[in-house]
This record gives sequence, structure tokens and C-alpha cells, in this order.
Amino acid sequence: MEYQQAKERIQELSRLLTQYEYEYYVLDNPSVDDYTYDMLMHELADLERQFPDLLSPQSPTQRVGGKASNTFEKVSHKVQMQSLQDVFSFEQVGEFVTRCREEFPEVAFSVEPKIDGLSVSLEYHDGKFILGSTRGDGFVGEDVTANLKTIRTIPLTLKGNIPLVEARGEVYMPREQFFELVKQQEENDEQTFKNPRNAAAGSLRQKYSEVTAKRKLDIFIFNLQRCEGKNFQTHDETLQFLEDMGFRVIPNRKICHNTEEILSAIAEIGESRNNLPYDIDGVVIKVNALSQRDAMGATSKTPKWAIAYKFPPEEKETILRDIEVNVGRTGALTPVAVFDTIQLAGTSVSRAVLHNQDFITEKDIRIGDKIIVRKAGDIIPEVLRSAEHGENSVPYHLPECCPVCGAKAVRDEGEAVLRCPNISCPAQLHKQLVHFASRDAMNIDGLGTAIITQLLENHLVSDIAGLYQLTKEQLLTLDGFKDKSADNLLKAIEKSKSAPLDRVIFGLGIRNIGQKGATLLCAHFGSLSAIESADKEEISQIEGFGEIMAENVWNALHDSSVQELLEKLIDSGLTMPFEKKEVATDHFFTGKTVCLTGTLSQMKRSEAKEILESLGAKVTGSVSKKTDCVIAGEDAGSKLTKAQSLGVAVLTENEFLEKIK
Ligand code: NAD
Repeated sequence: MEYQQAKERIQELSRLLTQYEYEYYVLDNPSVDDYTYDMLMHELADLERQFPDLLSPQSPTQRVGGKASNTFEKVSHKVQMQSLQDVFSFEQVGEFVTRCREEFPEVAFSVEPKIDGLSVSLEYHDGKFILGSTRGDGFVGEDVTANLKTIRTIPLTLKGNIPLVEARGEVYMPREQFFELVKQQEENDEQTFKNPRNAAAGSLRQKYSEVTAKRKLDIFIFNLQRCEGKNFQTHDETLQFLEDMGFRVIPNRKICHNTEEILSAIAEIGESRNNLPYDIDGVVIKVNALSQRDAMGATSKTPKWAIAYKFPPEEKETILRDIEVNVGRTGALTPVAVFDTIQLAGTSVSRAVLHNQDFITEKDIRIGDKIIVRKAGDIIPEVLRSAEHGENSVPYHLPECCPVCGAKAVRDEGEAVLRCPNISCPAQLHKQLVHFASRDAMNIDGLGTAIITQLLENHLVSDIAGLYQLTKEQLLTLDGFKDKSADNLLKAIEKSKSAPLDRVIFGLGIRNIGQKGATLLCAHFGSLSAIESADKEEISQIEGFGEIMAENVWNALHDSSVQELLEKLIDSGLTMPFEKKEVATDHFFTGKTVCLTGTLSQMKRSEAKEILESLGAKVTGSVSKKTDCVIAGEDAGSKLTKAQSLGVAVLTENEFLEKIK
């Protein structure tokens, strides 16, 4: 690569990695999987090696982890909490062993699972736990003693009266606990943690220890940082000592003497991976003798006496049994691979999206093939390639007709997706009805997926407008309906007749028109007839609208079947009112950028958002320097922490209610 090109790539990589680190360490909410991050980091390190004068001290390759936040007291680590040098191949493991052996021919290694959590230090004076801190940037971390005390396996008193012990370990969230937490977050309509590692970090860095306690974190100790009154020769001895003191020490470790032994220990740990109740992301290989470690030293970021072999994203072979074609709400036909169930990254997987015909053709994926499926942590499983065609297999082509209604599928110009053009297609209709009835659209309470399935199976509705013709007698013929439930559903349907126009437009499910688009459209034109008579050009002038959105709105509203549907809805009594919301101009919140976080007890977050918007505030989903104020409900997590670290004003729910009185 040329110098100038390398310079630009280094800048781009540094920018990307800095952004990913911020999302990962500060927001506990990564946007890419670890493998992608690691590969970019390696590309950067390689370029910096080739062009040493392009290496800046601020480069992401030069620093450890995140910064300590201001929510917690800062703690200066007496012994630096370093990171580890990653390697991704067995060859690199071999090179490390050779390097060590050149210095110490008799070298032995401790090989241990690499727990995927976050590093903490635990300090004990005279056998009493007095200080617990996060790693931070390796030099300065956060005092999280109170939160660490909620972890039952951290001893508060040691089994021996040693003047000083500092142990380092990895706090993690057991996988089951993680799934449980995500389920709760989904039920509460909260942002979910992406993986157990982020959940552990978010839970440990909570303002209130009661919240941390509920998260049921655990810990494995993997290093003795400092100790007074005892001498040790090897790492292994220190771990034994820590175990005797009552710590929960890293399990499944092995002492190895050569590359072969190390590789077989790696394989063994790798095989156990899926059966462990927690996530591991690799294997750590450390020189065992403490004097050899001291002699080998460290770089500014990592010790030279250890490496972390990182597992590649898990890939497994399986047999592709079928390709199902799903019909989406807008008619998109999506091929889905159905294969023999495999265990990947701790979960059972038997399906993966195949995107479109081009994807299948390019990889020549056929039913009956041996295929390779990959899943990296929380990332959705994907079919990587076909490893071997099945006997008598033939190239796969998506059906020419919709598998549900039989209409001839069409491929829009310039698009890879095939579509069923029939808007009365039962598969589309089912998804449209679910969307139309949903909380953000017409909010028809009680009209869920199961009832919609029954309505369609019994031919009680053939389009959205059909909902408004339903009778009590008809509902009583369906499973599970009684007098009261039928009345309730009819009442909810009746109530939706006065839903505002923007909800109706959103409920129609026009492609690319979400809630915000629908609101902008209605705020601009004020009525359905005004929107219908606007041309594409006028629609595309709306701020926040692009040409594609304008085109989609115009096409939908000039489609005879949609026009017919709207007429039926009006005939059924839908009033579609739309009042331009008067936005306050002189309220405390006017012109402010506000972020809502945590659970509010008096109202839903969506209601609070509506109120704030009506007061002229801009409500955002994340906290930055530009945020004027954060409203923090119960269990507020990283956003609150971030606000505090940036010095952004924080209001409690009560203070917020007081201001909007
Ligand atoms: P690391 O996780 O690769 O390795 C070092 C850590 O391993 C130590 O700090 C320690 O806490 C832990 N560890 C677990 N078990 C151990 C054991 N038995 N012995 C010693 N240490 C053990 O490095 P890191 O600096 O903590 O984090 C960097 C990694 O975080 C990256 O490689 C990447 O995978 C991930 N990351 C991802 C993103 C993203 O956007 N997805 C962003 C930033 C970082």
C-alpha cells in the first residue's frame, strides 16, 4: 500500500475503532461483533508496523479499554491492569511459545479459559475486603466496592489473616441470567443488552447496588496482583493460594510445556464451550514462573509473557433441509434456510435468512447441501457457504409465484428483492393486520396475532377494513371468545375509529414510512385529501423526506386498491382527525434536547416523549454533550452514568412531573 493510502486508511480505522470503543465501553451497547472489531484493530496494527511514522500515541492500538466515569470515585491501580495481546491462529500460538523458549528453554505455561466479562481488582487489608475497582484505562478505574459486595462469591473476609492481598478477576453474567434479563427488558420495552459481557459491565456500573444485586453477577479470579507476607514461585501456586483464601478461581486450567500440549488444551476448552453456563471468548496462555514473567516485562498495553488466543466466530456444518419462503408485510419474498439444528455460540440454531436470489445464486446454495453456518456472539446466524452439494441437487430458484396466494412475483427495477404484488395475499394481510392493530398504529387492544390468524382462517376479514364489519356473533364462533372478551374487542375496534390520521397512515404500512414519516406528512398537509392531491415533488419537499419516501407515499395513495381501502375505512366511520399539535414556545423544556431512561412509574416512556415533544423538546435515544437534560426513572443504567460523567442535568421522575404540571 502507498504511504498516502495507508495514512487515509489509518485515519479511517482509528475513527471507526474509537467509535466502536465508545459504544462498547461507555454505552455498553456495541454496534459490531467482537470479531469485526478485532480484525479492524489488527489491520490498524499491521499498517502501523509497516509505516511506523504514522503511529500516533493516540492510536486505538496504544490504549487499554475505557475511561473511568465520574459517577464513581476514581481508583489509581497500584499494579497496572493490563490487557492481553490477541492472537487468532495456532501458528501465532506456536510463535509465542518459540519466543518464550528462546529466553527460557524450560518455560511452562498456564492455559486458562478466557472469561468474557469485565476485569476487576479486589483489595483486602488484614483479610478484609476494602476496595473493589474496574480496570478503566488500566491505570485509573472506578470504585465499585458496594456493587461488588453484592456478588456472593466475593469473600468479604479471607480465610487467612494476610496483611495485603490484591486479586484480579473477571466479573460475568451467567448466560441464563442474561436471557432472563433480556426477556424482562423486552417486556418493559427497554433497550436490551447485546450480550452477557455488556450486561455484566452495565450491571456492575450501576448507581444503586440494589440493581446490581438483582442482576446476579458472578466472578472468577485469575491473578494475584499484590500480596504481602507470602512468597510464590509460580502463577499456579498463587491461584492455589487464592483458592485457599476462599476465592472462586478460574477453573479448567492446565499446565502445559509445549505447543502441542497447549493446542490440545485449547481444543479441550473449545469443546467445553457450549456446555458452560457462561461465555468464554478464548483461551489465555501465560508463562507460569513469576521470575520469568518479571524478566520478560510488558509493553505499555500488554504483558509480553501472555497471549489470548481468541476463538473465531463459531462456524458449524449442517445439512440444508429446505428453503422456506416467507412473505413479509410489504410482500417481500424472503428465503429462509431450514437446517438440522446445531449449537452455535450457546444457542440452538436451525434457521437463517438467505436474503434474496442473488445471494443464493452467488453462493450456489442448494437444498440437500452441506452448509457452513456462522454465529458471532449476539449476531444473527448466517449461512456462510455451501461446503458440498447434496447428491442430485439442483440450483435453487425462488418460486416465480407467491407461495401463499399464487400471485406472480415481481422484481422491482434495481432491487434484489422479489415481491408478491397482491395486497390481499393472506400472508401479507396477516402481517398488515398485526401492524395496523399494533400499539403505535391503531392501538387496538386485544387484537393480537392469534386472533388475527383465526379471523383469516375463518374468512371473517379479507382486508383491514373488514375489522370494522366484525360482529359479536362472528367473534363468538372463534376459540376462546366469551361474551365479555367479544364486547371488549369490539369496543377497542370502535375506539380506533377516531385514531388520528398519522396513525392511520402509519398503520397502512407504506414502505419506508414509519411513525415519524407519517407524522411529518400529516403535519405538512393536515388532511388525507391534501396528501392525496399533492404531487411527488411537493411531498419530497417535506423536511426529513427523501425522494424514495415521497415516491412510495404517492404510489401507495394512487394505487386503486389502497384508494378503495381508504374509502372503505371512511365508510366504516374512521374520522382520521389531525390537529397540528400546538407546540409550546416558552416552557422549561422548549428547545431542549432531552433523553428518557429507566422505568417511569407514572406513565410509559412513549407518553412522556409525547408530552415533551408537545412542549417543544427534542427527545433523543442517547446521551451526548448536546443533551440538555436526562430524565431518569427506576433502574436507569449507562445513559444516566454517561449523563453524570458529561455533567448533563439529571431530573428524577418526580422533578419531571413537577415541571410539566
Ligand atoms: P480482551 O478482552 O481481549 O482481553 C483482556 C482481558 O481478558 C483482561 O482484561 C481480563 O479481564 C480478561 N480475562 C478473562 N479471563 C482471563 C484469564 N483467565 N486470564 C487473564 N485475563 C482474563 O481485551 P480487552 O482490552 O478487555 O477488550 C478488548 C476486546 O473487547 C476486543 O478485543 C474486542 O473483542 C472487544 N471490544 C469489542 C468492541 C465492539 O465494538 N464489539 C469494542 C471494543 C472492544
